[in-house]
Amino acid sequence: MSAVELDSRSGAVDDLYWQDACDPVTESDEELQRIVAGADLPALLAALAAATGDVSALTEDLRPPLTPVDTVNHPHGGMSAAQQEKARAVALAGLRRLRAEQITSVDILSEEHTDAILGYLSGGRKNWHGMLEHELDLSPRKNGAPDWHFDDVAGGREFRALIVGSGVAGIAAAHRFRQAGVPFTIIEAAEKLGGTWQKNRYPGVRLDTPTFGYSYSFAQRGDWPHQFAEGHEIREYLESVAERSGVDRLVEYGCRLVRAEWNEDTGLWAVTTEDRTGARTLRHFNAVITATGQLDIPNIPEFPGQESFTGVAMHSQDWDPAVDCRGKRVAVIGTGASAYQIVPAICPDVQSLVVFQRSAPWMLPAPNYHEPMTEVFSWLTRKVPHYAQFHRLWVTVLGIPGRFHTVRAEEGWHGAPLSVSPRNHEVREELIRILREQFAERPDLLPHAIPAYPPGAKRMLRDNGVWARALTAPQTTLETSPIRRFTPTGIETEAGAVHEVDVIVYATGFRPSEYLEGIDVVGRRGREIHEVWDGDARAYNGVTVPGFPNFFMVYGPNVGGVVAGSLHFMLERAAEYALKAVREVLERRVKAVDVRPEALDRFVEWVDAENRRMAWGQPYVRTWYQNGKGRVSQIWPFTNVEYWEATEDVRAQDYEFLG
Ligand code: NAP
Repeated sequence: MSAVELDSRSGAVDDLYWQDACDPVTESDEELQRIVAGADLPALLAALAAATGDVSALTEDLRPPLTPVDTVNHPHGGMSAAQQEKARAVALAGLRRLRAEQITSVDILSEEHTDAILGYLSGGRKNWHGMLEHELDLSPRKNGAPDWHFDDVAGGREFRALIVGSGVAGIAAAHRFRQAGVPFTIIEAAEKLGGTWQKNRYPGVRLDTPTFGYSYSFAQRGDWPHQFAEGHEIREYLESVAERSGVDRLVEYGCRLVRAEWNEDTGLWAVTTEDRTGARTLRHFNAVITATGQLDIPNIPEFPGQESFTGVAMHSQDWDPAVDCRGKRVAVIGTGASAYQIVPAICPDVQSLVVFQRSAPWMLPAPNYHEPMTEVFSWLTRKVPHYAQFHRLWVTVLGIPGRFHTVRAEEGWHGAPLSVSPRNHEVREELIRILREQFAERPDLLPHAIPAYPPGAKRMLRDNGVWARALTAPQTTLETSPIRRFTPTGIETEAGAVHEVDVIVYATGFRPSEYLEGIDVVGRRGREIHEVWDGDARAYNGVTVPGFPNFFMVYGPNVGGVVAGSLHFMLERAAEYALKAVREVLERRVKAVDVRPEALDRFVEWVDAENRRMAWGQPYVRTWYQNGKGRVSQIWPFTNVEYWEATEDVRAQDYEFLG
């Protein structure tokens, strides 16, 4: 076993990217004025208040109204022109003070200052503070890291957890378990860590959410180069986080979990893993934490004649770097988030491109999609202590309400099935207006570019115009007739067209509702988890499943955010919740915890009711957010704040403790 016994205590600062000092401000007043003019004011005011220790400038009249986002962000959270003018004067004074007093660092804040800053950014929403303090690395109450240690709670007890997977979720889980000193083994089926970001290397791969909303609370990198990070940047970040946290040295690569069986007598999971050669190993663990990803199992639809195709065929996730599309005839099947990135990236260099579209995607305008961070932003991160971390916090604040208000369905709305509410209809009209502009030269394509379902029913893409440019390029054909069959040299449609191609790319997505596919998990009374679920995966808080003691899913069912919130927050909280449950087991000196069925039923009823009120929950909508039974099993329909509350404690009444 290559995993090392762990017993490291966490430091006082819970941020692997913590920077003690930044460069001093030396610029002239004119230069500072220019900086302030290009800065995001709420983040800057908060950072300056923290650095100068003067929160008195964060007056009520300067609070950003947090105007809800319909299609584009409102600058400065919707601050009025008068607010902005005043805020710029305050910011300039703050920067001058940094210069005059040569302030280049900031300490952990007092509770009072933390409250003042969070009150300012959140517009006085006190119930957001706990969640935001999970993210604010200067808070004295930062609440992600465990405040206990295995040695103090259970010193001497033999206990070992298994963490399965070293993607975004597995790294978070391993880091938190390591901080608590809980012995664990971490396995990874692939040869490298990074999960989806290791696998997805297709041309054009990058983030489609703002970079600063896509990082760990305990690893707040500040010098991200792009507004929407490129795929390799995220991969390198994950590798660097794993290195800084020491997790990378613990991962057993090429080791796949195939079976876990609970033994009620010993209180242990008998775990079977398979290595690269197919050889199986049996070992025992007290707890199992699965972090096996959600968008991981490729969906490759079946088409007649598929096997007869003699060219190259590959799924977006399994892009073969040896395949050179330049000068080739290429077909891309699908028009989701992956296709959105592949099609514009390969379009200029191919001989011909056919895009097979079943339904058109909705796209939100993001003019800065391919842009680097601005020069002003880089200056601020170099010269204002923890500016980047405050910017990250500000992105998090804006992400709490997100765009929920645009996708909430109104009962009896006459615009269905094309929209779900008046606001949703407005968004639809605005996005169609943009499409009209984009397809002005190709009115024949416009009807195919307008989705026939409500905005938000499926994942919305970020668009800076490259999709329309690729679809309207002379070498591109947008094919909307369904695929009838593959031939040895191409694809034939129902309408009878035959497209001769050299390469077929399946940008056909994943099978996200098939949680733990390929793994047998046998719990109490010999019940296998997939039989229990019967195609409808359900877990309390997305983490625990009745009948499967000490079994924790990190990023399990119903915790995915799509119009609001941070992925990292959700999976960190899930990992931290699992760790809290382990603490209960250790402190109570019991073998295991098992969630009660009634707690799960209550949870599912709660999320289902809310999902039914959303665009993606309407009966006339089909989306990967739903499973084969039609239940929305992927999506968390509330804000991050509700998840923070739901996972704050392992409530004794929700669990059975097995002695
Ligand atoms: P997807 O959104 O599920 O899109 C799959 C596409 O394939 C859809 O257009 C779908 O059409 C089409 N399709 C599926 N089966 C088909 C069939 N039998 N015949 C014709 N077309 C078929 O998959 P994805 O683009 O890989 O994205 C999945 C998720 O991964 C995203 O929603 C996002 O959460 C994540 N992702 C993120 C990034 C990023 O951050 N950079 C990039 C890529 C993916 P229908 O719409 O009609 O079903």
